[in-house]
Amino acid sequence: MQPNFPTVSVLGVDFTSITNEQFLHQLYADSQAGRNRVIVTANPEIVLFARQNQRYARVLAQADYTVPDGVGIVDGAKILQQSLPERITGYDTMLSLLAWANDHQKRVFLLGAKPAVIQKAVANINHDYPNLQVCGWHDGYFDDEQAVVEQIKAAEPDFVFCALGFPKQDYFIHQHHQAAAAIWMGVGGSFDVLAGIVKRAPQKWQDRHLEWLYRLLQEPQRFGRMLALPKYLALIIQQRLTGRK
Ligand code: UDP
Repeated sequence: MQPNFPTVSVLGVDFTSITNEQFLHQLYADSQAGRNRVIVTANPEIVLFARQNQRYARVLAQADYTVPDGVGIVDGAKILQQSLPERITGYDTMLSLLAWANDHQKRVFLLGAKPAVIQKAVANINHDYPNLQVCGWHDGYFDDEQAVVEQIKAAEPDFVFCALGFPKQDYFIHQHHQAAAAIWMGVGGSFDVLAGIVKRAPQKWQDRHLEWLYRLLQEPQRFGRMLALPKYLALIIQQRLTGRK
């Protein structure tokens, strides 16, 4: 059964219009039914990239759910007089799925991040979610992609969290998600947070829409990437004024 939720187009990317609660319930049902699902969590930088890269745009179009990971997408939709209920972050979704996997003794595969980071993330998950099974893991710096795919296949996971950064994680999932009837989600830098190496912005910063600034202060090397934000906003305003996509 294909999910059937309305979508909202933001600069050519179709976002699933759904609340966090609806989304999680849908994913729990997907998992219980053994469905193979692909989730992309997309922010303004990803939308801009998809506009310039057809292959990536196709990957987004073929995902089962593309959700707005960033207030920029929700605000952008609003400026375009559309409505997306709320931000759905990869990190929070992953934590909810881990808690659910723990309650239902599901199998979880973790792929990505540096070797020391993934090792610590796995240790923290084993400690915090003792009833789920980490059925396999691999760092994100591998040469033999097929060997990693075989490892995932043999592990028979219910959930595969891929933290290879964008666009690599989305290409990987797009290409290999048939290896397991699981929920596959790209989770960017989430393992760095799970391992305690990078701190998530406190709720107050998130509420004031300043998560990007908090992240920039922790990782100043991201400054270049963040220039995507004003460019994105300019395109949104241009589309609002001209109606052109
Ligand atoms: N990463 C990886 N393999 C790569 C490149 C990156 O595993 O070839 C990991 C990196 O160690 C980090 C995450 O992917 O843990 C990227 O985090 P970032 O916050 O940059 O994610 P993005 O914003 O690109 O989704």
